[in-house]
Amino acid sequence: MQYTNLGTTGITVSKICLGSMTWGEQNSETEGHEQLDMAFDHGVNFIDTAEMYPVPSREPTYGVTETIIGNWLSKQKSRDKIVIATKVVGPAGDWMPHIRHGQTRLNEANILQAVDGSLKRLKTDYVDLYQVHWPERKTNYFGRLGYEYTDEDDGIALEETLSALSKCVHAGKVRAIGVSNETPWGVMRYLHLADTLGLPRIVTVQNPYSLLNRTYEIGLAEVTRREHVGLLAYSPLGFGVLTGKYLHGMRPQQARLTLFKQFTRYLGDRSLAATEQYLEIAEHHELSLAQMALAYVNSRPFLAGNIVGATSLEQLRENLDSSDIRLNDEVLREIELVHKDNPNPAP
Ligand code: NAP
Repeated sequence: MQYTNLGTTGITVSKICLGSMTWGEQNSETEGHEQLDMAFDHGVNFIDTAEMYPVPSREPTYGVTETIIGNWLSKQKSRDKIVIATKVVGPAGDWMPHIRHGQTRLNEANILQAVDGSLKRLKTDYVDLYQVHWPERKTNYFGRLGYEYTDEDDGIALEETLSALSKCVHAGKVRAIGVSNETPWGVMRYLHLADTLGLPRIVTVQNPYSLLNRTYEIGLAEVTRREHVGLLAYSPLGFGVLTGKYLHGMRPQQARLTLFKQFTRYLGDRSLAATEQYLEIAEHHELSLAQMALAYVNSRPFLAGNIVGATSLEQLRENLDSSDIRLNDEVLREIELVHKDNPNPAP
């Protein structure tokens, strides 16, 4: 396992971070704990979760993933060896009214309530990294391209959100802060406010990044490299599409995109066409497609963590073992040709 630092914090994390959003929905608590044990044995010390998990978010399961992790942490008794990242949702009143009775604008009262809820479920008195799950303002995220100008109010100002996060840090409830589903403007704005108001700087951006979505490279890669912020790459297998298991109309039983038809982000024609080409490269070089896709993400210079997800121990083992794979120049060149021909098919 390779390790890196979260920005300039000195918090050391494994480059493979264990995602958790299936625990409490596709996976039971026991299975979640088995995944945690296996990952920990492989040298993973970094876990990503969120108050809204598991996914899809439903009223009866709100917060269950954090509870599953909290139960594991209390069995472990090695809290100081584990780096826990969690998230406060962005505005979700219409979409997920069951979360904190719809009080999800990113204002101070809601953030302070959310962090306390997460700490309680996680059975800990601090989280290592507290992230804003998506922005308050209307902008491009969750696959939206083509920025639309609007005169609508941006809602809670970033100053208030950052100042609330800063209070969490000063209260000792949070060690470092980050954002998710953010744009280059959002990241620069958070950093500017931190520098001018003497507030904590964000140290990570958790955005989608995979062979099917390298949009991070367009603006954020430069911003985050120059500003010492790291990428936490989510959905590195494009919801499982980058294993090849959805090609040619296949819909494996119990797989995420078979179970939840609302998730269409990675199933477009261009995405499947690129996947087929990436599969050819992997087969030609005797690699598994999943491992090639993950090894590609692991090797990016702007990466702070590759957040892998799995619903079985077999999948998890395959994903963890990607950390031992180095892609040679020929594989990287062939990947680049596919990307040039069909860039970001699943933004
Ligand atoms: P992903 O790697 O794109 O997809 C993981 C899913 O693919 C697994 O749950 C499994 O689903 C399938 N899979 C994984 N490994 C496999 C293998 N070796 N062979 C066959 N199938 C395999 O990652 P993700 O789950 O979407 O995201 C990972 C983590 O990132 C999440 O747990 C969460 O912590 C974070 N995340 C954050 C955001 C955000 O907005 N910040 C969004 C998404 C995710 P099936 O078995 O059901 O096929």
